[in-house]
Amino acid sequence: MTDRFDADVAVVGAGPAGARTAELLAGQGHNVIIFERNAQVGEPVHCTGIVSRECLERYDLPRSLVHHEVSSFVLRSPKGRGAQVRRKSVQAYVVDRVALDRHLVERACAAGARLLTSATVDDLEWDGAGVRMLATVSGRHEVRYLRAAVLATGYGAPLARRLGLSQTGDVISGAQVVVEAPNVSQVEVFTGGAHGRGGFGWLVPHRPGYALAGVLTRSGTVPRMQQFVERLQAEGRVGAVDQVYRCRPIPLGVAKKTVIDGIIGVGDVVNQVKPTTGGGIYYGLLGADAAAETLAEALANGGLTAQELAPYEQRWRHLMASEIALGYQLRRVIEQLPDAVIEQMHRLLRMPGLRRILLSAAMPFDWHAGALLRFVDRLQHHRHATS
Ligand SMILES: Cc1cc2nc3c(=O)[nH]c(=O)nc-3n(C[C@H](O)[C@H](O)[C@H](O)COP(=O)(O)OP(=O)(O)OC[C@H]3O[C@@H](n4cnc5c(N)ncnc54)[C@H](O)[C@@H]3O)c2cc1C
Repeated sequence: MTDRFDADVAVVGAGPAGARTAELLAGQGHNVIIFERNAQVGEPVHCTGIVSRECLERYDLPRSLVHHEVSSFVLRSPKGRGAQVRRKSVQAYVVDRVALDRHLVERACAAGARLLTSATVDDLEWDGAGVRMLATVSGRHEVRYLRAAVLATGYGAPLARRLGLSQTGDVISGAQVVVEAPNVSQVEVFTGGAHGRGGFGWLVPHRPGYALAGVLTRSGTVPRMQQFVERLQAEGRVGAVDQVYRCRPIPLGVAKKTVIDGIIGVGDVVNQVKPTTGGGIYYGLLGADAAAETLAEALANGGLTAQELAPYEQRWRHLMASEIALGYQLRRVIEQLPDAVIEQMHRLLRMPGLRRILLSAAMPFDWHAGALLRFVDRLQHHRHATS
């Protein structure tokens, strides 16, 4: 680092994507500062905290973060019929999302990164040699000069839009509450038009005696979530609301541009999210690995223009762009299905033969493209064999 720089890299946002990028860069000896606009890392919380087993293992996340193991779930049809989808081993975990964010930031700090909370980054500008940052830290305006910056602000940050790094026009949004629910012991997914076009609801075991009840949909997210919770309360499934989470948008589709001169976008801000379920923790962490690898190379070579950061585009696209594109297409198809068709598909799922085919397609939690193609292939074989 030369004297005129305050740090090598500023990471904007202490969510999973920012914390992981900071951990990797700091671990390689780079001087990294994380700027987090909130006073506390992880709060306010908005997320259910479901991560795949692959994610937990790959990132060595401690078991102490886990509220609940998921090896089966109940899929409910629009009319409320339940089909149990069971796998032999644990597929996913419900983790404490606040504790997850704190754990990842602690890892970054243990690797040498510095964390500033109540620190909002207001502007970033590349001047041909470095990134000039305007920030408000504990109410005071500051100017800092960095070799590079990582934008990990989550979706919807005005700064990202101004920089041209968050261009998606298509979003869904999710809202949820923590409810008293001593009898909810497994994940349930609720389908059908009551949740809006392509929307779904969920009930997920949380800390002992409580569950998360939420809705992911196109529009009217909070009223739909409230109606969903009232329905569950009327059915005696859940009790009083204990905590209301933030309603948050989730971007859909593959981002066009994720680097500009001196700056890389990672995580939700550049759509590294599954468009089907809205899950973005794992893709954000994978994006962070690609970002850190590219930035480390660029810092070593001394060139940080968009052209020199372009390998990041190739790396993250190779990992997940086709999954995001397919998931987006799948979502658009699902959004057109009337309840009667979903009800019929649900009936098929309860037929032992088709159920076996679906489960044998071995749909991994995070990677749907290959499994969907295998599923269609097996369905065709099944049709030929039975015709
Ligand atoms: C209702 C709901 C449920 C979800 N459930 C799941 C789930 O079960 N599993 C899953 O994998 N995903 C889930 N997601 C998606 C998941 O929450 C996101 O994909 C994930 O949080 C993205 O991580 P990130 O690091 O990119 O951004 P974030 O986690 O949003 O972190 C961004 C951080 O940047 C900070 N920031 C923003 N602007 C600035 C600024 N200018 N200066 C400084 N700091 C700034 C923010 O305060 C925030 O802390 C859910 C989403 C919703 C809405």
